[in-house]
Amino acid sequence: MTAPESHPRYQSLLIRERLVAGVRAGITSQEGLIAHGRGEAFDYLLGERTIGSAIRASRAAAALLLAAKRPVLSVNGNVAALVPDEIIELSRVTGAQIEINLFYRTENRVRAIADHLRAHGTSAHEILGEHPDASLPLDHARSQVCADGIHAADAVLVPLEDGDRCQALASMGKSVITIDLNPLSRTAEAATITIVDNVVRAIPNMIRLARQMEGLPEDKLNEIALQHDNKEALQDAIREIVSQWKGQGEVEIGETEAP
Ligand code: ATP
Repeated sequence: MTAPESHPRYQSLLIRERLVAGVRAGITSQEGLIAHGRGEAFDYLLGERTIGSAIRASRAAAALLLAAKRPVLSVNGNVAALVPDEIIELSRVTGAQIEINLFYRTENRVRAIADHLRAHGTSAHEILGEHPDASLPLDHARSQVCADGIHAADAVLVPLEDGDRCQALASMGKSVITIDLNPLSRTAEAATITIVDNVVRAIPNMIRLARQMEGLPEDKLNEIALQHDNKEALQDAIREIVSQWKGQGEVEIGETEAP
């Protein structure tokens, strides 16, 4: 890492480095870097901080996972490169299974991610996705899932998701939690709960909040999850972006005239 800690984008550059290392290790796809760029732009607009509605969404999401009978955390190449320890910890705290599911699926990449997670402390039998034996109603590689994992799950965490799969999971009657910095994406709109935050901040928050709620009765956990209004949270994220930048620049939206 060449950037000094005093660099204003230090954290952001560190995250980039981790993803580039992920590509070199065969974990993250090159397309994953581009997807990260879209997220990074929204993180910049949000002020690279966790907004209040994202904390509330993280709490509702943690409650949903704790209350679920068969929760699953779906892991792709970006998540494996950025938060391997944290995703394993979240699975321990919530009792959720981990399943590797890739948009740009190659068997080598699935194996590299599984090995990477094992190196971070997950035992072999705890990782699903290497041998998919069921499918979702989709026409690309992401349709391949495990019958005992995502296919049978009642709640699925799908961070950094594409809108199609999120919609497919929701249409199967599953509760879908996503982490997406873009509050305007199809994924953000289709999910039951969207956490508009960077995955590197959201997963640690979910772990902390899940620990706080451990031992709560199921009906209380369901109540916390159900109280969450996804539409309202997405609107709040857009308001936060607007208020973060209000007064910046010389042209105000709505005040320009057509030539
Ligand atoms: P959609 O199909 O939902 O409209 P998309 O096509 O815009 O999504 P993809 O390229 O499939 O998006 O996935 C990338 C998504 O993940 C983007 O919405 C981006 O904002 C988000 N993203 C990327 N990196 C992160 C990150 N580190 N934390 C949270 N979200 C991220």
